[in-house]
Amino acid sequence: MSAISNSEASPIRVAVVGGGIAGITLAIALAQASTTKSMSVHLYEAAPHFTETGAGIGMFRRPWQVMKRLNLGEEIKTVANIPDDEDSLNLAFRMSKSDEPRSTQEFDMFIPFGNITMHRVEFQNALAHHLEHEAITTHFGKRLLEYTLEANGGILLHFRDGSTEQYDVLIGADGIHSATRQSMIQLAINDAQAAGNTDLVKDLSRPGIKDPVWSGSVAYRSLIPSDKLRELNPNHATLTAPVNYMGKDKHIIAFPVSLGKSVNFVGFVSQPEMEGTVWEGKTVVQRTHEDVAKAYEGWEEEVEQLVKLIDSPSMWAINTLKALPIASHGPVAIIGDAAHAMTPNQGSGAGQAIEDAYVLAALLTHPSVTRDSIPRALKIYEKIRLPHGNDVQRRSRENGKLYEFAADERFPHLSTVSTTTAGATATDTSETDVRGIDANRLVKEIGEAAVENWKWAWTTDVETDKMEAIRMLEEGEEA
Ligand SMILES: Cc1cc2nc3c(=O)[nH]c(=O)nc-3n(C[C@H](O)[C@H](O)[C@H](O)COP(=O)(O)OP(=O)(O)OC[C@H]3O[C@@H](n4cnc5c(N)ncnc54)[C@H](O)[C@@H]3O)c2cc1C
Repeated sequence: MSAISNSEASPIRVAVVGGGIAGITLAIALAQASTTKSMSVHLYEAAPHFTETGAGIGMFRRPWQVMKRLNLGEEIKTVANIPDDEDSLNLAFRMSKSDEPRSTQEFDMFIPFGNITMHRVEFQNALAHHLEHEAITTHFGKRLLEYTLEANGGILLHFRDGSTEQYDVLIGADGIHSATRQSMIQLAINDAQAAGNTDLVKDLSRPGIKDPVWSGSVAYRSLIPSDKLRELNPNHATLTAPVNYMGKDKHIIAFPVSLGKSVNFVGFVSQPEMEGTVWEGKTVVQRTHEDVAKAYEGWEEEVEQLVKLIDSPSMWAINTLKALPIASHGPVAIIGDAAHAMTPNQGSGAGQAIEDAYVLAALLTHPSVTRDSIPRALKIYEKIRLPHGNDVQRRSRENGKLYEFAADERFPHLSTVSTTTAGATATDTSETDVRGIDANRLVKEIGEAAVENWKWAWTTDVETDKMEAIRMLEEGEEA
């Protein structure tokens, strides 16, 4: 076990647990803004090397701006097509009602910057190059089990290999099943009990706070070679832009990755009545071509072409957290999926992780922050970032419901949309099906509502969050 130094002159020792997009971005942001004299950053990853599961990832304007501010933009340009004019309107998603042989009029979501799409491993590798910095030490094969708080103010990290290490600050970037969150919530419950704060104890003990809950959806994921898809249909929409093929209780997101070499396929199948239950068993399992073909039987031709080329899909249970009431406790905080794991229906979970890292690094590296004031800096991070992460989590869920025609107060008539559009055939040119649903109108309404709910992602800037956090820190405002 290494000992902690209490001298203010020695660098603040920061442990970042989890080497996913959140942890890597945070380590880079901390190292760039600090000097080795002021801070040493230790990144702990459970796996023997950096891993990213799943194939594709999309990014909107806000996290892209963070990438540029962290001098990572040029590296990312080697793995993604970035628009020359970042203010120009680009096609972020094409939406259509696709659960029938004929396709509907599409709704095209043109937004400033658009939605850049990448292969996850290529994106993560582009980031990881920047970890080669004298302030950062990376440790692989180190799985955190829990942490405890020491009498000297330090945090003791307990790893599965039996080792322990002590730090001044711990940031849990360890994903949806975060060991950091589990310890943190338990310690916060203990403190709330001791203080007689029964409301907080109840809030922290809800399902979906310590452990995740199931969203009711599973996602089939696969990579499709673009050249094979081009052979089937040279004009297939997913060869050039992200597409959302929508249907009752199901939808498919597909977009080009690896600069157009492959198409990333994610097909969702939902049981809305199961939302909030606990998923039993492995969260990722292998499935067959036939499973996917069966799920999307009778869907439009473009879907049929994608499904035809799916080889060995994996199936993911989409688990989430509920809105957490805290993201910090003393000298410990959580970021990314550890703090606000969400459904992927606004393509923004990783974006939120990047934004958390950016704001938190600005606070922790501020010249006024000392060991003693770390908990206050972390509370400011929580106050600024947690409501945002929770809001995006809620909006993502709402969009997911729209894509799968789940009725809500805005769209009560969606309750009449059933699994397939009865009576429609490939040659049926009528726009209104036998139950009076005008599919074109439906797609337009859903598209407009989804965009309205999503526009925070391209009309606002995380710099505002950062400036407000710094203002609170400098003006001594209570967090
Ligand atoms: C189907 C799907 C599609 C998505 N599409 C998008 C998209 O287009 N855009 C977008 O922005 N987001 C998207 N997301 C969400 C995005 O993938 C996540 O929000 C993001 O990857 C979270 O990053 P993270 O670093 O917080 O967590 P993770 O990626 O889960 O990384 C956590 C890391 O911590 C390590 N770890 C875990 N436990 C421990 C431990 N105890 N000790 C040490 N290390 C540990 C893990 O090995 C891992 O490397 C999607 C998600 C899904 C499921």
